[in-house]
Amino acid sequence: VPQQITIAQCASRLDEVRTALMEVRHMVASGGALTDICLCLPGSTDYRQLLDQQARLYGVPLAMSLPRRVATTRIGAAIAAACQVMTGGWQRIDLQRLFAEPLLESIRATGAADLIEIALRDRIRGGLGVEHWHERLEWGLQATLASKERASESGDDVFARDRSVRAYERARGVVQRLESHLHVASTEELPGVDFASMIMESVVGGLQLDEALERALVAGQAVADDSVIEVELEAFDKIRDSLTLYASLAQDHELPALTLAEHVSAWWGMVEKMSIDVGTHHAGVTVATPAELRSRRFRHVIVLGFIDGEFPRTAGSYFDEELLPLVARRLDAEAMADMLVAAIGGRLTMLLPKMIDDTLTIPSTFAALVPQAQFVQADEPPVAAHQHDTRDVGEAYRAQQHVQLFAGAQGEVPEEIAQEQSRRMSASRFDAMTKCPFAYLATKVMRLDTASSDDARLTALERGNVMHELIAEFFHRVMPRQALADVTREELLSRRVELDPAGIERYWELLCRLVDEYAERHAWTHTYAVAERQALVGSPAMAGLLRRWLELEIEYQQETGFAPALFELTLQEDLVVDGGAVSVALPITARIDRVDLRQAGDDLEFTVNDYKPSASNYAMNAVVEGTLSQMPIYLKATATWLARHGVPATGVGAVYRSFGSSINQAEDPMNKVVLYDQRLKGAGRSRTMKFAQISKSLADLPELTLAEQVDRILPQLLAPRAEILGGTFAVRPAKYACQTCRMSEFCRIRQWGPATADEKGHHA
Ligand code: SF4
Repeated sequence: VPQQITIAQCASRLDEVRTALMEVRHMVASGGALTDICLCLPGSTDYRQLLDQQARLYGVPLAMSLPRRVATTRIGAAIAAACQVMTGGWQRIDLQRLFAEPLLESIRATGAADLIEIALRDRIRGGLGVEHWHERLEWGLQATLASKERASESGDDVFARDRSVRAYERARGVVQRLESHLHVASTEELPGVDFASMIMESVVGGLQLDEALERALVAGQAVADDSVIEVELEAFDKIRDSLTLYASLAQDHELPALTLAEHVSAWWGMVEKMSIDVGTHHAGVTVATPAELRSRRFRHVIVLGFIDGEFPRTAGSYFDEELLPLVARRLDAEAMADMLVAAIGGRLTMLLPKMIDDTLTIPSTFAALVPQAQFVQADEPPVAAHQHDTRDVGEAYRAQQHVQLFAGAQGEVPEEIAQEQSRRMSASRFDAMTKCPFAYLATKVMRLDTASSDDARLTALERGNVMHELIAEFFHRVMPRQALADVTREELLSRRVELDPAGIERYWELLCRLVDEYAERHAWTHTYAVAERQALVGSPAMAGLLRRWLELEIEYQQETGFAPALFELTLQEDLVVDGGAVSVALPITARIDRVDLRQAGDDLEFTVNDYKPSASNYAMNAVVEGTLSQMPIYLKATATWLARHGVPATGVGAVYRSFGSSINQAEDPMNKVVLYDQRLKGAGRSRTMKFAQISKSLADLPELTLAEQVDRILPQLLAPRAEILGGTFAVRPAKYACQTCRMSEFCRIRQWGPATADEKGHHA
């Protein structure tokens, strides 16, 4: 066994690669030879690309070590992925694998990224054939077109909808291109000879794999980063030979006709056993798969990606796992043994990232085979660019951070920024700017963040939307209303939906019916559907969240005299904000979930309300400090809108209404009031409203009228607005903003730190 075995956890895949490279540098610095060290990869292309990039930065030369298996070459992996798409009924995961192959540049060039992003967002899992993709994409396109039409009427973000329509069109294009080659009747049985020629024609020829190789040969390129063209060409010859061999075996032995999946399984079994000997190309650290380590010895073997579910496994062997589970398991065990044997007498270090895509990882189950292993947390590795760069920090930052998208030759304002400057701001956009201007640029303007979702259950946002829709529909059924035509005091008061305490059982029945209608309309069949329904409706033993919400709502109306009158109110107003010497008009857009009204003598009082899955995290401090701008904007926008229509009214409160996410939480649902004045709070305690805690520094606030409080808060939004108008997006994160941001690779805060207040040039 190795003398020392360590399993070390790093923060991310990138940190893992950096840690490995720092290990190599330390070893060389203490007299070791590069050829004594091996970096072992589990086969994920993520690592290979990262390693190539980072090795250059860290000055670590990499050598290629072989023999190499045909199935692990790019051409092999591309063919395997295409076969998997055909035999698996066009599953999303298989399309993802297919598009990950660099040889398929011509197919994925336009639209593949859009297709996968849409599939994740719209939860298209595939598996039902190509027609299913056509249907879902057509449906999504039509829905987006309709929403674009609505947006152009209401003045919402039409640009975003337009982008989305183009994305759907590109996604449809890529499915059509693939379909013309890979669409075959997968359940029909066919003879081996036909199978072999079909693979050559539709997969190799149709996807133009041979031409891609030829092009790479002419250009003298490597195919992606990790495979030289000679290796690919040789692998291609071997795969062609294997098809010819398969066809003649089938003919000579009169094998029965099989389905496509059966043929693929039998033929690929042959390909998996083939390898090519390409020797070592240049001196450096050996990079190898576990199988390629066999019969070799190193003083230090560093393994990357020692994660449960991912390791050991070499590229292409996912094929094994699905079709030949026993063989796959045996290969995994062999791979682990190969690694241990290669490091006999030396060191074996296995690295794994702590998180992948926001999910915690756990070490490979094979860790149990090495009880003497030490578990450690790796130190954060130094960043190479920082070490080798001796230029002035500010200058280097600007040079490194030049954003191509915005490179106007004559200094003209780029289109994306011009759009930003003319847009009406929403509260969430203000908050994102306050959090970090650069993160705003990266996520909202350049859209560098990609959506991630989980097919199996509802996200908090989706659950919120369900409750939203149910409750809006509930009020509408209790009192159907036409669209608001005249904004007058009488009209507004007549729209109040007052719930009658005696009618509670009738309301409850209506809500339960709405839940069932909703579930049916949205084909609510995900894994947690039953639990979800029970949380909403409850069981004989325990009232569900909706029942609790209904009881709270009735009691709230009785206690306060308020009742909801306006729902989903979209306002576009120019708010007049105190800008010091002059007043400034701030163009905003707001969509207010609900406005409640009550008559107080001659006066009309209103509150603005927003539904949230949970309200407990909304603190008055954040509202007053301008980092949670929704409620002040809603209050001012509603007051401005009513005044514009000649309806005198006074805002008295801003309420976050939670539906609750679990029936175990005694506090849910809850009405949390984050801004208010004495007219709402009064003297005594409220049974149905929870008033936000006021910190000492804000103690005078409730003494002011609500309009005065709002006028004190809103000027804080002028700074982010000015920054957008100026087109500067500084790397200036608010406290803790970086902890949840995924843009650190773009803003490079770790290398260069945040912008200082006087450093104008320190922005994108
Ligand atoms: S990582 Fe921090 S500094 Fe960088 S963009 Fe995100 S929030 Fe801003």
